[in-house]
Amino acid sequence: MMVRSIFSHVRTFVLLPGLFLAVPCDAQTPAASIPASQGFYRLPYADGTTLEVFDDVESHRPVGRTDLFAVDGQRPYRVVAAAAGRIMAIQDGYSEQQSGRAARECRNNFVWIAHPNGEWTNYSHLAHGTVTGRAGLKVGDEVQAGTWLGDEGTVGCSMLDHVHFEVAVPRRDDPIDAGGFLNDNADGARLRRPRFCGVEGEAVRKGERHRAGSCR
Ligand SMILES: [Zn+2]
Repeated sequence: MMVRSIFSHVRTFVLLPGLFLAVPCDAQTPAASIPASQGFYRLPYADGTTLEVFDDVESHRPVGRTDLFAVDGQRPYRVVAAAAGRIMAIQDGYSEQQSGRAARECRNNFVWIAHPNGEWTNYSHLAHGTVTGRAGLKVGDEVQAGTWLGDEGTVGCSMLDHVHFEVAVPRRDDPIDAGGFLNDNADGARLRRPRFCGVEGEAVRKGERHRAGSCR
């Protein structure tokens, strides 16, 4: 049986500067209030990988994020850029799988990419060392849609191998914190509902399976 809850990126908490205090903020935000992305994004796995939607933007807690896991294809499963852009942040130095932690305690591996339309995409829980190592990437690199970012993993606050995917319009200054979490994102205000190419209705839904490929 699949574990029904993954504690990936529990962004239910906002850290108040100077206080060791976590305030619940966006757990109750309706996903319907999240605007659709401006950009179109490919499913963030290598061409030909079959993936399943573990949580969509409605079912994910907190809402507005998407969890995907590969079920068939070439192993190890490669996570790829959903669109062209520039790598803004990389963390792939962690290796521990954690569970049940507050967000500030999560040591997640992640990549953030800025796209020309102003939106950023996030890929989290990648396998240790695969971004800077085998994929050979560094902050500042330009990537294309489909560029290999690293391998699917379960590093940080995660209960199974998957990729946690987000689209957001970050704050211009200090857009993300050291843990890879969006700053100034109370109530998920900076999130965008990803529009995926090649997917009926442009939205993926929990339990669906899709085959990743390039946008046409
Ligand atoms: Zn997630």
